[in-house]
Amino acid sequence: MSLGAQLAEQIANGRLSGRLWLYSNYHCNLACSYCLTESSPTAPRRVLGQARMLELTQQAADLGFNAIGITGGEPFLLPWLVEAVGEISELLPVTVLTNGTLFGPRRLEEIEALRTRDVSLQISLDRPDPTENDAMRGPGNFEKVVEAVPQLVRRGIQVRIASTREDQTEDEAQRLEALLRDLGVREEDHVVRPVVERGRAAVAGMGIVAPLEKLPPELTISVDGAFWSPFAPTYRSGRLETDLLLTRTTDPLTVPCSTLLDLLSVTPKASDSSGFV
Ligand code: SF4
Repeated sequence: MSLGAQLAEQIANGRLSGRLWLYSNYHCNLACSYCLTESSPTAPRRVLGQARMLELTQQAADLGFNAIGITGGEPFLLPWLVEAVGEISELLPVTVLTNGTLFGPRRLEEIEALRTRDVSLQISLDRPDPTENDAMRGPGNFEKVVEAVPQLVRRGIQVRIASTREDQTEDEAQRLEALLRDLGVREEDHVVRPVVERGRAAVAGMGIVAPLEKLPPELTISVDGAFWSPFAPTYRSGRLETDLLLTRTTDPLTVPCSTLLDLLSVTPKASDSSGFV
């Protein structure tokens, strides 16, 4: 069976995600206390590059992947990001993970061009209270996000919200849902994720342990190589964590795909990986 046929079979039976993740960059305007990639304004940029992202998307489409996820770092720090997302979305649907703090008037105007494309933004908002939200993510974060979300929704951009947290009370969960409704976000477009014990979170003693057997396989490419999951290409005390590295080679994409398929054949399916999807 060809590599493409094997991938298609694993994607069709739900064993492998059809989404290829791209780490566009590692720097960020924020420095969240649980950041897996130790991102910050001074972090090394490790930019994948616009042409490379498009090339990877083309190879992914040819191999039978059915979606692209873009994450970082903060992807919207890259001046060419909106243009790149437009190009990529001509090949496959795209989801971009963002902290939602860089949507000033010019960026909003620029991104409106994507309203007719299969593009969604997944914006981070952890808690319904500015003080508690900003304690982990930095001053002013909450205000910028609640300002940006309705403006994006009004412009026809698909918005999802991701909340990363170690715990939450029922009351807090309900207040967050109410806030998101007010911002124009549907309940089904809200995901809650655990803090994972990697990167800065691990150094701070936060998060749950997420070994390979617990993480759903989602091929992920960064400048450092190909990884098992978007939770994998993390940095801890300035060093790349390589426990979930598949291959350093990412071109052609068939190389990490082949390694991933080999690993899938000897790895039992996680009994409950719902928190990581
Ligand atoms: S968690 Fe996201 S927003 Fe926060 S520092 Fe890391 S990359 Fe930036």
